[in-house]
Amino acid sequence: MFRTENALILREVRFKESDRILTALTADAGKLTLAAHGALSKKSRIAAATQQLTYAELTLFEKNGRYSVREGVTKEAFQGLRTDLERLALGSYFAECLEQYAGEEQPEPDLMRLGLNCLYALSEGLYSPEKIKAAFELRLMTEEGYAPAEEFCAVCGRQDIKEPVFMLEDGQTVCRGCRKAGKALPLSENALAALRYLVHAPAKKLLSFRVGDEDLHLLADVAENWLLQCSGRSFSTLTYYKNLIRNL
Ligand SMILES: [Zn+2]
Repeated sequence: MFRTENALILREVRFKESDRILTALTADAGKLTLAAHGALSKKSRIAAATQQLTYAELTLFEKNGRYSVREGVTKEAFQGLRTDLERLALGSYFAECLEQYAGEEQPEPDLMRLGLNCLYALSEGLYSPEKIKAAFELRLMTEEGYAPAEEFCAVCGRQDIKEPVFMLEDGQTVCRGCRKAGKALPLSENALAALRYLVHAPAKKLLSFRVGDEDLHLLADVAENWLLQCSGRSFSTLTYYKNLIRNL
C-alpha cells in the first residue's frame, strides 16, 4: 500500500552497499523507520530527499508494517546547515532530541513545527545559535508536559519574583530569598521574562523575542540543564556541539 508523508529526516544509517535506514519525523504518523533502498547509489532518485536534516515529501510503500521510500521530493534542504559546522552540529542535536521525544505512529504536528522552524532559523542564520537552542529546548520540554513552573514564586507566591532562580530538580522558579535546598541556577528578570515567553508564545512567533547577551546566557543555561534533567540521559550530539564551540 502506498502513502505519502511529509517527513523530516532525523537520522540516517548506512546499510548494505547503497541503502539507508532512516529515522524520520512525520506530522501525521510521528516517528517512522524507513528503508531507502539504493539511496546511496549515484543514480538514485531518492538520494537528496533521504539525507539527514532534509524535509521532503516521501512516497512510502508499506508492507507488513515496514516502510520503504519509493519517491522523494525535497521541500527544504536546509542548505545553510551543510556549509557551517556549528549549525550542522546544533541541527543534529535538535534531531536527536526530536527522535527522543516523538511518539511512534501518532500525529506530532507540534514537534514537527518546532523542529522545522528552529532548523530553518538556524539554517538561514536568522538568530544566534544560542538563542535558537534555548528556545528549542524550553519549548520542546513545554510541548512534552515539562513546562517550568514560571508564573509565581513557588514558595511565596509573588508574580514579580525577586532575583529569580530556577530550581533544577523540580523546575520551579523562586525568589533568591525563597530558595530551597537543591541545585539552583540564576535567572534575571529579563531572562525569566524570556522563559515565560517561550512557554506561552504562539508557535509562529516563538523566536520573536528580544533578550540581551547576559540574560540569554542565563536563559540558555537553564534551558539546556532543564532538558537534560527531564530527559535523564545525555545526548552525544550535544556533547559534540559543546566541544566544537569551545574550540571555535
Ligand atoms: Zn518568593
